Amino acid sequence: DETILEINDLNICFEMREGTVNAVNGVTFSVKPGEVLGIVGESGSGKSLSARSIMNLLPRNATVTNGSVKFRKNDGEVVDILAEKRESRKMRELRGGHIGMIFQEPMTALSPVHSIGKQIMTTLNLHTDLSKKAQVERAADLLAMVQMPKPMEMLKKYPHQLSGGMRQRAMIAMALSCNPSLLLADEPTTALDVTTEAQILDLIMSLQDELNMAVIFITHNFGVVAEIADRVSVMYLGNAVETASVDDIFYHPKHPYTRALLQSIPRLDGQKRRRLQTIEGMVPDPFNLPTGCVFHTRCAEKMAGKCTSQIPELTHFENDQMARCHLHQA
Ligand code: SF4
Ligand code: MG
Repeated sequence: DETILEINDLNICFEMREGTVNAVNGVTFSVKPGEVLGIVGESGSGKSLSARSIMNLLPRNATVTNGSVKFRKNDGEVVDILAEKRESRKMRELRGGHIGMIFQEPMTALSPVHSIGKQIMTTLNLHTDLSKKAQVERAADLLAMVQMPKPMEMLKKYPHQLSGGMRQRAMIAMALSCNPSLLLADEPTTALDVTTEAQILDLIMSLQDELNMAVIFITHNFGVVAEIADRVSVMYLGNAVETASVDDIFYHPKHPYTRALLQSIPRLDGQKRRRLQTIEGMVPDPFNLPTGCVFHTRCAEKMAGKCTSQIPELTHFENDQMARCHLHQA
């Protein structure tokens, strides 16, 4: 099957006052058209940074030291994203045009000084040839699509006049305004109360289905992943330690970190949408990462010698399952 996105052996370093952090280390995964990939991990695991690399929007003090991010447009053209300049014409075309993005905090995406309608129309103006009148109609249709009541009136509202859930809907409408084939969702429901979170998740999933777009959904909530993802990538300290179908992740996990996370979720079926539980042991200092396997300081299955001295390679199993652990290497 053709992929829409391929991330291969991505490494990203962060320069900070306290030193250098290897924030993303050898991350490899791909996404097929119409597929939902969940990326799950604790904060600081590198999941947001990996997503920002897809938009070519890394923070200024971050450097890609290895690897590639390739995006396939609907017309078949493959864009080597990290070879593009951040503000190249092609990147501007991709961002908002082919790839939409939604965040935890809608105010990062929405301008406080323009009405919702104005902001959607600005995006439409940038990426389409629609007339002014058609833009207004399209903007109202988008607000109706994200189930905002009275779309024509909503167009005139400013972000601060909307509730958190409504702002999230407006941001989703803006992200979807140009029919992206990939939506990046970075913890879009984390800041919401449980009821609103459920509504927004349902909305994203019904739109995903209706528009048949691929979604990368970043979360620290294993329950959310169980509900929405086709495939899952589990991240720990900058490493994608395991990637597999949602069934294989939950029923045949290969990596000890995945197994530890699952054991810390007592009743997945009874209590959905649980937060990612912490597992035993301290998260290592990112400025001073463990040698060998990054997980060895907390791993219940650690093998003396190997695990503390050698970085495990990625092992490929059947069904596109991958894990980075010495247990699976000869
Ligand atoms: Fe545990 Fe060793 Fe596998 Fe790392 S490589 S997860 S320490 S068994
Ligand atoms: Mg984050």
